[in-house]
Amino acid sequence: MSDYDTVSADVEHEEEIPADHPRYQDLLTRHRIETGIEKGITHLQGMHAEGRGSAFDYLLGEETIPSADGAERAAAAHLLLADQPVLSINGNVAALVPEEMVDLASAVDADLEVNLFNRTPERVEAIAEHLREHGADEVKGLTADARIPKLDHQRAKVDADGIHAADVVLVPLEDGDRAEALQEMDKTEIVIDLNPLSRSPQVAAVPIVDNIIRAVPNMTEHARDLADADEAELRSIVDEFDREQALEDAEARIRNGL
Ligand code: ATP
Repeated sequence: MSDYDTVSADVEHEEEIPADHPRYQDLLTRHRIETGIEKGITHLQGMHAEGRGSAFDYLLGEETIPSADGAERAAAAHLLLADQPVLSINGNVAALVPEEMVDLASAVDADLEVNLFNRTPERVEAIAEHLREHGADEVKGLTADARIPKLDHQRAKVDADGIHAADVVLVPLEDGDRAEALQEMDKTEIVIDLNPLSRSPQVAAVPIVDNIIRAVPNMTEHARDLADADEAELRSIVDEFDREQALEDAEARIRNGL
């Protein structure tokens, strides 16, 4: 067993992971997903998604590359300009960044909505409760009284006054079918996904190729920095962002280390 495996297998509380461990962020991420599964908020498939993400993050150098930082700033500007922004929360997002999503929602005045691929009433309630424990006042997604067109029944469920009505949606770690269906509803879609070739970032207005653990706090920081910006400044940040370039830069880093 390597040192990496020994640390991972022995840890019960995340405080036990040594902060100076060379793979600290990866160990922390893995530990949070495992805890999420134990608490019933993350589906077992979330562990596979995490494994894929971890491989891409390794190749990215486990850092926010400059184009991802630009995407995070553009995303913050979009959220600040929005009439009805909604942040979508699935089992991995809830396990990895609950408090950080609550902070972002408050910085851009957005709603939080639980939106699950493998939806069960128990899991929706467990995630809503988990978010409340991390400071959320109101959590949407429990009513599920509207449907995203072109998706099968369970996968299409959203709140009528939440994602269904939103003009800007942040969908981190989203499945490709749903990302495409939301895009067809003419929403401005912001996706966080470590794989630039995955369908979700490919259809997003703002693809953020970064680990959600780094991306969300950085978006909040940008949002706070832009809190006093006028509409013209926010619009110019949005207009200057080049989604194709951001995807190309991430792929170049992953393939060639550039
Ligand atoms: P598609 O979008 O084409 O359906 P997929 O089947 O690989 O692709 P999912 O398994 O539905 O996608 O979603 C998982 C995605 O989330 C993967 O692309 C993975 O790279 C990404 N991912 C996993 N963990 C993280 C993380 N911590 N931060 C950002 N992205 C992550």
